[in-house]
Amino acid sequence: MQEKILLLVCCAPCATASIKRLEEQGYEVINYFYNPNIFPNEEHDRRYAEFQRLCAEKSYVALDMDYEYQKEHRKWLAFIKGLENEPEHGRRCVKCFEFRLKRVWEKMKELELKAFTSTLTISPHKDSEIIHSIGRGFTGFKFFDFKKKAGFEESVRMSKELGLYRQRYCGCEFSMRD
Ligand code: SF4
Repeated sequence: MQEKILLLVCCAPCATASIKRLEEQGYEVINYFYNPNIFPNEEHDRRYAEFQRLCAEKSYVALDMDYEYQKEHRKWLAFIKGLENEPEHGRRCVKCFEFRLKRVWEKMKELELKAFTSTLTISPHKDSEIIHSIGRGFTGFKFFDFKKKAGFEESVRMSKELGLYRQRYCGCEFSMRD
């Protein structure tokens, strides 16, 4: 029987090659969009809709969004409080990864799964080792450095083929500034 793995999907373009790699390694991937860091609401919903479109087109398993954006975004703002002026790649991003990975870990347990991971490592803008160091604090976290073996380049190619929307900033209001 295939091992199931819960995948935190940050956006549809990053999901493409990440899901492919996991499937090649024999996993049954359950995709979960949990990104209340994204601002504004319209951008959040646009990325979620693109995630749903990708999953529908490729017949991927996708969990429905299970949070109320405004409420969850306020929780995220409270979590990173004091770090608003940090540059991208700084301490605010470490907290942001922790916030999202913790929720996905909780979701994994709710679903009685044994493993989870994240598409975050596919981005050349994100330090995979930082994500690894946060992830290993949670039971069931499996580390995959999706950007290795030209994973990011593959995601760009696949996204173009599918005509996926690719955002121009990381996600939060502070990354818009950067
Ligand atoms: S720049 Fe990106 S990773 Fe960093 S805090 Fe903002 S949304 Fe999160």
